[in-house]
Amino acid sequence: MGVIDSAGKIPELSSYDAIVIGAGFAGSVVARELAQRSGKKVAIVESRDHVGGNAYDKYDDAGVLIHAYGPHIFHTNDARAYEYLSQFTDWLDYQHEVLANLHGTYIPVPFNKNSIEKVFDADKAKSYIEKLISVFGDERKVPIIELRNTDDPQLHEIADFVYNNVFLYYTQKQWGLTPEEVDPSVTARVPVFISRDNRYFQDKYQGMPKDGYTKLFDNLLDFEGIDVFLSVDARDVLKFDKSDSKTKVYVDGNEYKGIIVYTGAIDELFDNCFGRLPYRSLDFVYETYNQKHWQPCGTVNYTVSEDYTRITEFTYMTGQDLDVTTIMKEYSRPYEAKPGQIPYYAIISDENQAHYNQYKELADSIDNFYLIGRLAEYRYYNMDAIVSRALELADEICD
Ligand code: FAD
Ligand code: UDP
Repeated sequence: MGVIDSAGKIPELSSYDAIVIGAGFAGSVVARELAQRSGKKVAIVESRDHVGGNAYDKYDDAGVLIHAYGPHIFHTNDARAYEYLSQFTDWLDYQHEVLANLHGTYIPVPFNKNSIEKVFDADKAKSYIEKLISVFGDERKVPIIELRNTDDPQLHEIADFVYNNVFLYYTQKQWGLTPEEVDPSVTARVPVFISRDNRYFQDKYQGMPKDGYTKLFDNLLDFEGIDVFLSVDARDVLKFDKSDSKTKVYVDGNEYKGIIVYTGAIDELFDNCFGRLPYRSLDFVYETYNQKHWQPCGTVNYTVSEDYTRITEFTYMTGQDLDVTTIMKEYSRPYEAKPGQIPYYAIISDENQAHYNQYKELADSIDNFYLIGRLAEYRYYNMDAIVSRALELADEICD
């Protein structure tokens, strides 16, 4: 692999068989597969000065391995995605646990039997647990919106507690919306779990790349035929001619007939011609302390207080054994396309999907032009789902 930091200078790319925009999981996996399976010469164009997309990690000044764009824990039931990535990394066994801080009382999230016993007296807790099991069954997961919609008065009491103490304020901070206003699939990611299992995820495979995500990407991209051009924006490379019913793409001044895989925000690539799609952005604030640990587990959610949504302490996740620790506070805000601001989350709704579909139709009118990724598809994908999608797209292109 050649990694070239172009420092804004526009590389000549017309001789490549494929141009992939973005060196996150989507772009990197597709690039690797095109190079490896069909011997294609692939150029990756990445606007940041590093590979890895939002999974990028690095050592801070105190020597702590931190995640630069939010905490990333790998978890999946998809054996293909897990085995694929296992070619490029060994794994540290890490089972993520999250606590919600309710004014100083820590309760497991997803809210479960142990959480019930932390916040209700023993008799009440016992009868709530029995009720949940009798209605839904033991070891079942119940989305909060579903729990709120039952008729049973006792279930309503539980639902009200969880809604008010776990979901309401956190969701307002994260999305600027109430839990009823966000798409039900979003809050369903963290259901009430009728279980004693305190883990955030129950997937078969979960862990952290042993030497970090960036090292995983270095290995993934280390293949003949792949060149990565950092600090270059796709908008300076790809020029569109929409004057015909078939939109044409120009690279280095000539019509480009190769494959283009785009993983960034689709509205921005097309100059917001149908208006901006809405996204949420995040600000991260890091603090380093001369102590082994700062909080009781990897992530603590602030569900009833504070302006930030959660604090992550990385050494729990990475297994680093140090006498110093770095924590990260996450603040969510609307994406306003300010310089340096990053669109992290698509805001899922029917209206936004219809808006997105206008861009998708435009992209579909370009030959050999593929959209994949959290931003390009305007979806809420976890890493494993993106790896799986990227492998499917590579199958499609290579076939
Ligand atoms: P990205 O990682 O965003 O990569 C896209 C790349 O394209 C970026 O590097 C970007 O700079 C580049 N790009 C965009 N536009 C342009 C342009 N015009 N020109 C050049 N380059 C461009 N998933 C999990 O499985 N587990 C987790 O614990 C987890 N935690 C997360 C926490 C946070 C805060 C966030 C935001 C996401 C989390 N995810 C997690 C999701 C995970 O980040 C995504 O699934 C994954 O990053 C998607 O990969 P991608 O390639 O689609 O996008
Ligand atoms: N959520 C919440 N309280 C919590 C955890 C999650 O209200 O303590 C809601 C919130 O709306 C959040 C969604 O559930 O956006 C999904 O949470 P998840 O942790 O999956 O979000 P991620 O950080 O992975 O995007």
